[in-house]
Amino acid sequence: MDRSSGTPPKEEGVYPKIHQQHQQPAPEITIRNLFAGLYAIVTGAASKKSSGSSDRRRAEAEDGPPEDLWGSVLLPSAPPLFSSSAVDDVRATKTLLEAEPPQWLPDSSATSCMQCDASFRPVTCGRHHCRFCGGIFCRYCSRGRCLLPMKFREREPQRVCDACYERLEPVQRILVERVSNASQVATHDVTDFSCMRSWLNSPLGLSMEQEIYKATNALRSYAKFGGLKPEKAIPEKVLRGAKGVAVLTIAKAGVVVTYKLGTGLVIARREDGTWSAPSAIACAGLGWGAQMGGELTDFILVLRSPEAVRAFSGRIHFALGAELSAVAGPVGRLAEADVRAGDGGTAACYSYSLSKGAFVGVSVEGSVVTRRSDTNARFYGDSYVTAADILSGAYPAPRAAYPLYEALHDLFY
Ligand SMILES: [Zn+2]
Ligand SMILES: [Zn+2]
Repeated sequence: MDRSSGTPPKEEGVYPKIHQQHQQPAPEITIRNLFAGLYAIVTGAASKKSSGSSDRRRAEAEDGPPEDLWGSVLLPSAPPLFSSSAVDDVRATKTLLEAEPPQWLPDSSATSCMQCDASFRPVTCGRHHCRFCGGIFCRYCSRGRCLLPMKFREREPQRVCDACYERLEPVQRILVERVSNASQVATHDVTDFSCMRSWLNSPLGLSMEQEIYKATNALRSYAKFGGLKPEKAIPEKVLRGAKGVAVLTIAKAGVVVTYKLGTGLVIARREDGTWSAPSAIACAGLGWGAQMGGELTDFILVLRSPEAVRAFSGRIHFALGAELSAVAGPVGRLAEADVRAGDGGTAACYSYSLSKGAFVGVSVEGSVVTRRSDTNARFYGDSYVTAADILSGAYPAPRAAYPLYEALHDLFY
C-alpha cells in the first residue's frame, strides 16, 4: 500500500495543532483569550489554565502538563507522529474500504464549485456530484474516475472529486480485484441451444461481458462444427501457430453499397502459450454487394504474427487489408498441406466465418478496426488501461472471461 494513502488525513489533523501550541509563548490577544483571562482572575483558577485554547486544554488533559508536551512533541528529533504510519495506513485503508455511500448534497446547496469556486452556469460549467463524498464540483475538479468501495455496489469507475481521487487511488488495486466487472464470475456461460442468447450473436455488444459471451459462443460453434467436419475445419497448423485471435460479429446491410458494423474482442497468446486478457474492439466498413438484404456473421480472425497483435494493441484504428493484411484463411486437410509447404503465406491474419453451415475463409478487407477503450475501462475498472497493457499479458486473466478461456483451450489445446 502506498504510504501516502493513510498519512494525509493524519497530517491535516496534527499539523494545525502543533502550530497552535508552538505559538503559545506569545499568545495572540483575542477576545476569547481576554475573557478567559478575566474569568481566571475572577475565579482564582490556576494560572496555567489561562490560555483558553481548547486544543491546549485537551492536550493537557490527555498528556499531562505542557512541559512534557514541549519535551516530547516539539522536539524535532522525536515526533511520535510518523512512528505508527504503517498501522495508520492499514487503518486508513480499512476505513476507506468500509466507507458507506454518501447522501448527495442537493443541487441548491452550492452555487459554485466546492473546490475551485467557479460559479455554475448552464452548458459551460455544470454541477457534478462526487460519487464518494456527495459534494458538488465543476467538471474540471471532478475529472477522476475511480472504483468505489464495496458498499457502493458499483462495478465501474465513477466520477469523483480531486480530493476523493487522491484518497481512493491507493486502494484501486484492491478494488480492481474485488469489485470490478472483470473480477466477477461470468453469469452467462451456457452456449448450447437451451440458451436463447446463443442462437444469434448481436452485432453490437454493449459490454465486455457480452463480447466474451459472443466470442465464446462463436468459438464453441466452430469447435462443434470442426469436430463434425474436419475436412472443412481451420487447419491445426494455423491454430497452433496463432499469436492471437480476434472474434467479431458483423452485421452487413444495404443495397448496392453495403454497410458493415460490428463489435468483438481480441486476445493475444503469451510466450508460454497461455492467453492474455481480452480487449474490446469495434469494426466498421463499406462494401459493394450485388444483392440487397442483410446478414449477420461471426468472424474469427487468426492473428499469425506478433505484428498483427501489435496492430490491435498499438493503434487506435487501422484498416484490415490495407494496413494489416487479412485474407480468407485456408480450410481442411488439403490446405493443411499448403500451409506446411509455404509456411502459410505472408498474410498477417486469416479470417474465417461460419456461414451457411460451413466454416469458410472469408475476406474482411475494407473494414476499419478500432479499439474500445471505454469498454475496456468499464470492464477492468481502470480508466487508464490500454489495449497494449491488456494484450501484452500484464493484466491477469480476468475471472469473468473463464468461459472464453475454456473455449480457447478446447480449440487450441
Ligand atoms: Zn472546480
Ligand atoms: Zn469527493
